[in-house]
Amino acid sequence: LSDRLADTFKNLRKKGTLSASDVDGTVREIRRALLEADVAFDVVKQFTSRIRERALGDEVNKALNPAQQVVQIVNEELVGILGGQQRRLEFAKNPPTVIMLAGLQGAGKTTLAGKLAKWLAKDGHTPLLVAADLQRPNAVTQLSVVAEQAGVAVFAPEPGNGVGNPVKVAKDGVAYARSRQYDTVIVDTAGRLGVDAELMKQAANIRKAVDPDEVLFVIDAMIGQDAVNTAKAFQDGVDFTGVVLSKLDGDARGGAALSVASVTGRPIIFASTGEGLDDFEPFHPDRMASRILDLGDILTLIEQAQEAFDEEEARKVAEKFATDTFTLEDFLKQMQQLRNMGSIKKMIGMLPGAGAMREQLDSFDEREIVRTEAIIQSMTPAERRNAKLLNGSRRLRIARGAGTSVTEVNQLVQRFEQAAKMMKTVARGGMPQMPGMGPV
Ligand code: GDP
Ligand code: MG
Repeated sequence: LSDRLADTFKNLRKKGTLSASDVDGTVREIRRALLEADVAFDVVKQFTSRIRERALGDEVNKALNPAQQVVQIVNEELVGILGGQQRRLEFAKNPPTVIMLAGLQGAGKTTLAGKLAKWLAKDGHTPLLVAADLQRPNAVTQLSVVAEQAGVAVFAPEPGNGVGNPVKVAKDGVAYARSRQYDTVIVDTAGRLGVDAELMKQAANIRKAVDPDEVLFVIDAMIGQDAVNTAKAFQDGVDFTGVVLSKLDGDARGGAALSVASVTGRPIIFASTGEGLDDFEPFHPDRMASRILDLGDILTLIEQAQEAFDEEEARKVAEKFATDTFTLEDFLKQMQQLRNMGSIKKMIGMLPGAGAMREQLDSFDEREIVRTEAIIQSMTPAERRNAKLLNGSRRLRIARGAGTSVTEVNQLVQRFEQAAKMMKTVARGGMPQMPGMGPV
């Protein structure tokens, strides 16, 4: 993970409001993290400018917790590009459903054919694998082995029958499936190490001949910056209806996913995560988003950072109590910390079996803090530092500024004075404990 990005979010988290430079700093780190994850440069540029625009907008300004809001926006945008909702395989109204695989050599097509067949068979389908890769001497055998492992049938040209025509094999394969009641056909095709005009044409011809319901473009997640050019070449040359990301078990952070989805606009349907036939799953945009930016870790880090921050603050505040320098400004800071309770409340509310805790949390009123904040923010810095300045006319001015009554201002000042007095006694007695304050 880019630790710097985590740090950036951590720092953001301490802020009640975000300045343009906070946002710029964050966007810079997001850009760095995406480039590290090998997302294509143009895609990164587009993505970050969109984040910047939204982060500077009203939804963040008005959010109770701006930093979290930014993390959420980043996540939302990532998931959006990656396809939002999961996309399922399309099945033909009249079987067989024909699924053609395309992609560079070594991308993982043949392996995927086996994985997909096994997955479909488990789901009650009757798949047939068709060996239309006649380019490599071993390709047909490899597919037969995979079919046997998956426990499904394979259609292949007879060995020793001379070099076959892959377009004809594909076409015959589909006809065979239709006559034998196979309900799905997976057509494996050839690829080269690089994009190759002749093979692209062959793939396009196979597509034309079998008119597939799905053309799945298989791409190695480790391909890095080449992802965009390869995907574009296949889109122009053959076109495809969906993407399969293979070798996600490797170190790749999955930047290719973002690049391909963003540049082609095609959904990622499956993820391949190993050499075994079971290392395969439908693609989850939200999980991939978390993987690309390590958002899961970031969210945990934010919580941890917040705890550390609270303890540090509590220590400082206790010192101020003891030395009689606790001000309304400190009081406000404490209130702002408490504001985070709102999101904690929401989180805990989602946990099963949190009933008892929820009751306690419900007694916590976030609006109270917002009102307190408004009042203190309507005071001048001098007033915040020295509550003794707060005479009648000042209180009236503050009440107007905060859109509240003088009574409420009086109540707040009273509460502040009580808290300061009580805490002073306790702090001097050497046992400063109060809800929300860590041990000193
Ligand atoms: P094709 O040329 O596109 O048909 O690619 P293959 O299916 O023959 O796969 C090429 C190599 O990658 C083989 O050694 C596979 O075992 C391996 N492979 C395929 N998919 C994955 C995957 O998801 N993870 C890993 N680690 N290896 C894979
Ligand atoms: Mg192959």
